[in-house]
Amino acid sequence: MFLTHLECPRCGAQHDSDRLQNLCRCGSPLLARYDLAAAGKAVDPAAIAGRAPDLWRYRELLPVGDSARIATFGEDFTPMWRADRYAALAGVGTLLVKDEGLMPTGSFKARGAAVGVSRAAELGARHVAMPTNGNAGAAWATYAARAGLRATIAMPFDAPLITRQECVAAGAELHLVEGVISDAGRLIAGIIAAADGAIFDASTLKEPYRLEGKKTMGFEIVEQLGWRVPDVILYPTGGGVGLIGIHKALLELRELGWIGDKLPRLVAVQSTGCAPVVDAFARGERRAQPWPDARTVAYGITVPAPLGDELILAALAATGGTAIAVDDADLLADLAEFGRLEGLLLCPEGAACLTAVRQLRAAGWIAADDEVVLLNTGAGVKYPGTVPGV
Ligand SMILES: *Cc1c(COP(=O)(O)O)cnc(C)c1O
Ligand SMILES: [Zn+2]
Repeated sequence: MFLTHLECPRCGAQHDSDRLQNLCRCGSPLLARYDLAAAGKAVDPAAIAGRAPDLWRYRELLPVGDSARIATFGEDFTPMWRADRYAALAGVGTLLVKDEGLMPTGSFKARGAAVGVSRAAELGARHVAMPTNGNAGAAWATYAARAGLRATIAMPFDAPLITRQECVAAGAELHLVEGVISDAGRLIAGIIAAADGAIFDASTLKEPYRLEGKKTMGFEIVEQLGWRVPDVILYPTGGGVGLIGIHKALLELRELGWIGDKLPRLVAVQSTGCAPVVDAFARGERRAQPWPDARTVAYGITVPAPLGDELILAALAATGGTAIAVDDADLLADLAEFGRLEGLLLCPEGAACLTAVRQLRAAGWIAADDEVVLLNTGAGVKYPGTVPGV
């Protein structure tokens, strides 16, 4: 394993990666650091190409030491395909959809759970707990069961019913709360405090390894393009872990010399009903303000106060990216239009990126010849309620 330590991106403190860790004392999330020089001697893109087509093919850049501890259902490469008819409608030359709906549990949250649960188990955790908007809890409950860990999950009543059912099916202890994910977070914090060290806090970005799983989306996009980067990547941003992870992946690949200096412009897509990152970006601030009365059909991105706000905003700034909020009515119309043109039912969060592509193209921010990748973060079939006229 090439993992060397954990580093605080805010105060620079280093932390031991061989024991369970949460936030830095300064309150910032921690980032996993590797001996990339040594990793680059041990493996290269040609060697990776010969391995099984799943996220563990990047194991030199992942934090699990003992492969026997890996909890997996087969986190295979997700397809990335051209949506030419929708691209023509939006006026962009190349639109590629990376479809995370094919991951186990039907969302990209499986990547974070596969790596996060495996590492937590390796470091001795027996019981994990977290608040969620649904998909993360479903994924962590599922992978925790696979690894033989207990899971306690809290989610808002409004979260998609299927994600509740997944938690229960995997034997997790499920709590439903009034309000939004931060309310679920308060309940979980109380449960963890009362457990006196017996429950590991696996809340978004409060442990460092979920991010490592999600960064593999960045590795895959680059590898699927033949070890080159697109011009623009759009990501439906709630906690922002996927966006931060894709950025981290790109920086690691650049340091390894596997890609050139140019990075894709990263776009954080939010809903006008919950847009703390868009608001902070527009004001040129480094931190986001909590969003009052957060509400959107794109439930996975209803995160009023993302803990990783600084890292999200830094990733946008470092790549010449932007942040944009779209209306629910527009994203639902684009979701329906996309289905008619391309066939696949996207998740509402993925559909938010469709609207963002159209609006950014109309504003000239995306050029006609840009190669654009968007993440469909979950399977549309988990959200049957978004199909109009049924
Ligand atoms: C969790 C989730 C998101 C937001 O992901 P973050 O990495 O937390 O920003 C987007 N879409 C879906 C379907 C999700 O479940
Ligand atoms: Zn710190």
